Amino acid sequence: MRRAFQAFTPPSALGSAESPALFYRKSLGVSLGLSILSFGLLLPALQLRADPDSFQSVPSKAQNCAAVLLRLDMESFDAHKSALFDAMLQTVKEMPADSIPALMKQEGIGCGFLFGRKEGGREMAEKVYAAFPNQFILGTFKRSDWWREHPEHFISEIKKDLGRSSYRGIGEIHIRHNEKTHDNMEEVVKSVDSPQVFQVAELARKFNVVLYVHLEATHLDEDLEPFKRLLQKFRDVRFVWSHAGWAHADLVEALLAQNPNLWVTLSKRFPLDNNLKASELETKIAPNIFSDYPAGKLDPQWRSLLVRHSERMMFATDSNTPTMYKHIFAEYTRIFRQALSSLPEKTARDIGYRTAAKLFQSTATSAAR
Ligand SMILES: [Zn+2]
Repeated sequence: MRRAFQAFTPPSALGSAESPALFYRKSLGVSLGLSILSFGLLLPALQLRADPDSFQSVPSKAQNCAAVLLRLDMESFDAHKSALFDAMLQTVKEMPADSIPALMKQEGIGCGFLFGRKEGGREMAEKVYAAFPNQFILGTFKRSDWWREHPEHFISEIKKDLGRSSYRGIGEIHIRHNEKTHDNMEEVVKSVDSPQVFQVAELARKFNVVLYVHLEATHLDEDLEPFKRLLQKFRDVRFVWSHAGWAHADLVEALLAQNPNLWVTLSKRFPLDNNLKASELETKIAPNIFSDYPAGKLDPQWRSLLVRHSERMMFATDSNTPTMYKHIFAEYTRIFRQALSSLPEKTARDIGYRTAAKLFQSTATSAAR
């Protein structure tokens, strides 16, 4: 798997003639040079150009990528070219630390919310963040096996990580995760009303971080009311509903209207993600948010929802395995750029980077920990 993933990474980043360490040293050298220049009058022009190459040249560890993206507000937004914020990226121990940054550069993703998954993913995400701090917002790791079988231990480990200032989000807790055809992960179901879910929400509140909730819209007859209660019980916690694109647009709209502490990502609404092992569940999820997927044409109801609530909607590929990074990351980004190009500029800008950047910037500046 590792070899297959390395094979498609850009030669400029990972090729045999240039080791990852050399690549990083060279990037840092260029970055430092441009950083020194940027103290002059040319600072806005140098720092705020939105193409991926120049984005790489904003190296300050003191300035996270959410803050940098917000400064792009002064520039015009081109859905096909401007830097985006991918609100959900995952990594595993098999992925070389510089592979995701190289792909982000290739696709013009200026910032990503990153967390590790499975054994060793936590350490790998920390390694990536340590090497490329200006490209990521770091989230705590996901271990669905621990969440299911040893939740108290999992929660205590999340708490340990949150005690360190680099973390700004809780990676993802599973409320409803069905078996998939592409993964060997089993079903994970956790009652939204369970004490463990409340404990994690308490941590999000205490450490002033964002909490991602994985909730697939296959059993909303059971899950929706408890989820609403959770949102109401923790009004001061910022929740992200991962994969809201599986739900009907009117339901998402009602939830957003009633809960100002809720943001959503639309991931898991691409044809390649329609991978539920139990095919009868397909009938329970909503029609695709794209009426014409290859063309990036949005369903009209979703389109108007995106326009009305763009300040709570975030672009996310949810890339999470070497295979997905290889086959889907670039494709999803392209389709989303196409969809964004059909929307009013404010909407496209919000979904493309501004909503996520604002959300995480609020944790970056106010967390006194
Ligand atoms: Zn998820």
